[in-house]
Amino acid sequence: MTRVLVLGGTAEARALAEALHPRIDIISSLAGRVPGPALPVGPVRIGGFGGVDGLRQWLTAENIDAVVDATHPFAATMTAHAAKVCAELRLPHLVLARPPWDPGEATVVASDTEAAETVKQQGYSRVFLTTGRSGVKAFADSDAWLLIRAVTAPDAAVLPRRHQILLSRGPYRYDDELAILREHRIDALVTKNSGGDMTRAKLNAAGALHIPILMVARPPLPSGITTVGAVQEAADWVVAHG
Ligand code: NAP
Repeated sequence: MTRVLVLGGTAEARALAEALHPRIDIISSLAGRVPGPALPVGPVRIGGFGGVDGLRQWLTAENIDAVVDATHPFAATMTAHAAKVCAELRLPHLVLARPPWDPGEATVVASDTEAAETVKQQGYSRVFLTTGRSGVKAFADSDAWLLIRAVTAPDAAVLPRRHQILLSRGPYRYDDELAILREHRIDALVTKNSGGDMTRAKLNAAGALHIPILMVARPPLPSGITTVGAVQEAADWVVAHG
C-alpha cells in the first residue's frame, strides 16, 4: 500500500487527512510550534525533520512513496526542503496551496520589511499587525503603535516600543474584526496574502471602514512543482498515485 506524508499545520492538511484516512496509509507532520495544535485524523508526527538531510533520512526510513506539501503558503523553508528532497529521491510530490486572495485595493508589498517601510513612509500611526509571530521583527524599530495579533507570543527582543499583543487563533468573524479595528482606532492593516476563509474577515472589515491594507505577497514556489488549490484535487492526486 502506498505510504504518503502530508506536511501540515493547516486546515487544508487536516481536511486532506480526513478525506484519505484510513483508505490510504498517510502520516501527517506538524512543526510543533504552537501549543495544543488542532490534530488531523490518523497518524501524526510532530517536530522538524532536521533540515534537508533529516528529511531525506526520515522519508527513506519510513518508506514514504509520495509527499503532499499542504503547509501554509508562507512556510517557504519547509516547502523548499520538501521540493529538493523529493526531486532527489524521485518521489511523487504535490503542493496543495489554497488560492491567494485578490488584493483588490490593498497595497501589495514583497516582504515584512517592505510593509514596515511603507507604514513609515505613509505615516500610519495605529497599525493592526496580523502577519504572525515571525512578522514582528521587521517592525522592531517602528514608531507606530502596533496591535500585534499572533498565536504565540513574539520574542520580547523584537517588540516595537509601543504595542499591545493579542494572542488568539482563527477563524475570525467579521463583527469581531470590525470591533477590533474600531476599538483600537486602527489606521492601517498589515496582513500576509494567506488566502482562504478563516482569516479573510479582517479584509472585509478594513474595507468597510476604508482602512488601508498592506498585503505581503506570497513567497514564490520552487519551480517545476505540481500544484493544486483544492483539497479534493489533492485527494484525487494521492489516489491516482496509489
Ligand atoms: P518554515 O519557516 O517553512 O519552516 C521552518 C522549519 O520548521 C522547517 O525547516 C522544518 O524544520 C519545520 N517545519 C515546518 N513545517 C513543518 C511540518 N509541517 N512538519 C515538520 N516540520 C516542519 O515554516 P513556518 O512558516 O515556521 O511554519 C511552521 C508550521 O506552521 C508549518 O507546518 C505551517 O504549515 C504552519 N503555519 C504557518 C503559518 C505561516 O504564516 N508561516 C501560518 C499557519 C500555519 P526542519 O528543517 O528541522 O525539518
